[in-house]
Amino acid sequence: MNIVLLGCPGAGKGTQAAVLCEKYGLAHISTGELFRSEIASKSPLGLKVEGFVNKGNLVPDEVVVEIVAGKLESLESGWLLDGFPRTLRQAEELDRYLATSGKRIDFVLLLSVSEEVVIKRLAGRGREDDSDATVRKRLMVFRDLTQPLAAYYRGHGLLQEFDGAPSEDQVSSALTVFLEESAAKSGS
Ligand code: ADP
Repeated sequence: MNIVLLGCPGAGKGTQAAVLCEKYGLAHISTGELFRSEIASKSPLGLKVEGFVNKGNLVPDEVVVEIVAGKLESLESGWLLDGFPRTLRQAEELDRYLATSGKRIDFVLLLSVSEEVVIKRLAGRGREDDSDATVRKRLMVFRDLTQPLAAYYRGHGLLQEFDGAPSEDQVSSALTVFLEESAAKSGS
């Protein structure tokens, strides 16, 4: 099973990704986590992306696409992409890569949360890029560049939307019920 998890900053992508990966034995690919660990270790990639990440801007598409393709290349198992794709161009590049490697996305799960809830959630989190101004910037970037991906994947018949506002457990069970029902349908 190959999954793309979409949602604005603070929608709970990381939390739900961890639950689903554990439950279904998927490889968790989080581009945000990857960049944060590269930045912390001051690697050449970290130094290259630090300015973008800390200001709430997107890392250039070509940099991200190359990294994700490299990760997917080496995987035998199913995977879950968390925080990628984030622009239409990334989504198209991903489709092109998957077509050439004979793989496909099974589900795109969108976690929807209002900006009001997100601002409250992120105010209590304390990550380097969670300052007020940066959160607003990231939400703006999401609205302009990432939100259009919902329509893109809806058009491909892959999108399933979930309310991300309830508790972590409630959101996990909604996701799990959906995935299990879909698996049962495709198996019957
Ligand atoms: P959030 O969804 O809370 O903003 P992430 O951990 O997914 O957090 O991403 C943190 C930052 O990493 C983003 O603001 C951006 O700078 C960078 N980043 C992560 N994924 C991508 C991507 N696919 N394309 C460009 N930049 C990315």
